[in-house]
Amino acid sequence: MSFFWEREIETAERDKLRERQFSRIKELLSLVYEKNPFYRKKYTKAGVSPADINSLEDMAKLPFTTKGDFLEDQAKNPPYGTNLTEALSQYVRYHQTTGTTGKPLKWLDTKEGWLWRGKCAAMSLTAAGVTAKDTIFFPFAFGPHVAYWGIFEGAWQLGALAVAGGGWDTLQRVKFLLENEVTVVACTPTYALRMAEVAKENNLDLRKSKVRLTFHAGEPGALIPAVREKISSAWGARPFDYPGLTEVGAYGIHCTAQEAAIHVNEAEFFFELVEPQTGKPVDGSGPGEMVLTNLGRLCSPAIRFRTGDIVRLAEEKCPCGRNFVLLEGGVIGRVDEMITIRGMNVFPSQVAAVVERYIGVEEAYQIVAYTERGMDNLKVLLEPTPERDPSAIVNMLKLKLRETLELRVEVEIVAPGTIARSDYKAKKLVDLRDRR
Ligand SMILES: [Zn+2]
Repeated sequence: MSFFWEREIETAERDKLRERQFSRIKELLSLVYEKNPFYRKKYTKAGVSPADINSLEDMAKLPFTTKGDFLEDQAKNPPYGTNLTEALSQYVRYHQTTGTTGKPLKWLDTKEGWLWRGKCAAMSLTAAGVTAKDTIFFPFAFGPHVAYWGIFEGAWQLGALAVAGGGWDTLQRVKFLLENEVTVVACTPTYALRMAEVAKENNLDLRKSKVRLTFHAGEPGALIPAVREKISSAWGARPFDYPGLTEVGAYGIHCTAQEAAIHVNEAEFFFELVEPQTGKPVDGSGPGEMVLTNLGRLCSPAIRFRTGDIVRLAEEKCPCGRNFVLLEGGVIGRVDEMITIRGMNVFPSQVAAVVERYIGVEEAYQIVAYTERGMDNLKVLLEPTPERDPSAIVNMLKLKLRETLELRVEVEIVAPGTIARSDYKAKKLVDLRDRR
């Protein structure tokens, strides 16, 4: 069963989709060129104007935008920078990035921009099967980060009943959701698992709750098979991912036909795939860096924004009926994690995704990059459970890694206890390559 917010657009053929993207881009560019100091300056400096953009292919003539550009602009023009198409008095929402890798980036939205963000969230919620009949619980205190605020707004647009559960402890939240027949829970994967733990400690069974799906942002867990399995077995509910970035908005749609792949919402975003080193377009399915332009947030747009996220496109059409590109495994790595092995760009998380598809939660593994006779190589060390046939899993993993990465990767069985256990956020790569 597929669910749509705007069926006609979401199931449109690609040429129609691209036509629509182009007409919105034209509108966006002429507006920012006239009224947005950040883009006007950027395009003037690059010697391009909206008149030069006569097709989607022409978008390549425009310079990229990076998070660094926005940060620099805000440092020079405090506090909000110049990516403001409207007068400051028109803005109604403030958010900021988590700033884990430096100073947080501030972001403002007008009513129009905020409604657009909410609409994108409503599209994602709908694709996961959420309807006006659902009760969505947000079991945490809201801060200045945008993700869950967007979902909260999306729930409003959808007409679902939304409950903010800040200021309670975990047990109070568990009791609340059981008593009030909550059907959807929106929180990080880590917190969903924490709630399950607390419920168990108190002899409460979340599987008996009415929660039928969980909706996750802020961490990639909902696309990681091992984490999905943990959440669905603890909750008896299906996890969905809600990927987005403060700078561009929530671009991802995790439909019911996919376990671990997400659509880019091409009704509201223009998607490009580029080589991280050169910025040139990548032909075919990648991997490459995702570049996004949002089409409905004219007040503070991100145009050709370098996400730094590495993605790979699925080759098959999704059975849900959407013709939007489908990202296999969601974001599979960050640009700065990329390593080059025998001329091929590889992301440790891509290797991890393949390995995790075929091993159990109790089986530890480690990815090692090393140099042998002057050649860089990759291998996977694996600690299988005793009941597993070691040679079968080695052959299977080698084959699957070769198919996915188009690269030979050795797989080596190691003795139990060799590999340190760690959670899914830990770094899985050990880099032992010679530095020449
Ligand atoms: Zn789909």
